Amino acid sequence: MTIDPAQLVRWYGQARRDLPWREPGVTAWQILVSEFMLQQTPVARVAPIWLDWVARWPTPSATAAAGTADVLRAWGKLGYPRRAKRLHECATVIATEHGDLVPDDVETLLTLPGVGAYTARAVACFAYRKNVPVVDTNVRRVVARAVHGLPDAGNPSAVRDLADVAALLPDDPSAPVFSAALMELGATVCTARSPKCGLCPLSVCAWRAAGHPPATAAPRPAQRYAGTDRQVRGKLLDVLRASAIPVLRDQLDAVWLTDPAQRDRALDSLLVDGLVEQTADGRFALCGEGG
Ligand code: SF4
Repeated sequence: MTIDPAQLVRWYGQARRDLPWREPGVTAWQILVSEFMLQQTPVARVAPIWLDWVARWPTPSATAAAGTADVLRAWGKLGYPRRAKRLHECATVIATEHGDLVPDDVETLLTLPGVGAYTARAVACFAYRKNVPVVDTNVRRVVARAVHGLPDAGNPSAVRDLADVAALLPDDPSAPVFSAALMELGATVCTARSPKCGLCPLSVCAWRAAGHPPATAAPRPAQRYAGTDRQVRGKLLDVLRASAIPVLRDQLDAVWLTDPAQRDRALDSLLVDGLVEQTADGRFALCGEGG
């Protein structure tokens, strides 16, 4: 089965969410920033941070001129803070090697720090209206259901997933809107746990037509956060973000007393990732603030 582009595009025109990075006048750089932030964080948490970020650093060169510590602070509680560092590196490369302009072709975008297959195509499509397939988890799920009649997308395969979506793209200027609409459908209607088929604009869906056959594989357990190294890293970074000066080891140790070995591992990983540094007198600071 296939997806009728006209149906989907028409629905998108009426049902799309008003997200700040979709407003007129948003630049390619600002769209790229949103894509970095959205990689692993929900829209509702990204929107306020993105608004502050682009007001403060509207261009790659403005971002590149900021200190790494400022960038890590502004990233706030978005999680996975390595993304902030990569975004800062990406801004520096665009400012110094691309005349402060985000490249518009997928191949060049892929050479930028932190820009992978999804982000490169998302920027080419949403910022430059290029007719390229954009594949994220939501898109994979919609295609699995509507086209292949499967309840879930299964394991990702870059080649197969891109070919799947490329085959659906209309060969006309509506392709970028179609891509945005496919993603929006997966995010708001064809959701993982409770697809709202009654609200779906697609008149043809293979999975619905087959009577929603269940998955044969056991569902993957939900990712937990509590008690993970990720949580401990977040707590350590909270202490460093809140302090204008380097902090003592004891101040860091106090945030996670239950498992000192885990805390040490988390701190080591922050040092290795270049998010935190140690001062000559043994205290700790966000990268760039250790003196
Ligand atoms: S009909 Fe249901 S399962 Fe099919 S694409 Fe629409 S929301 Fe998803």
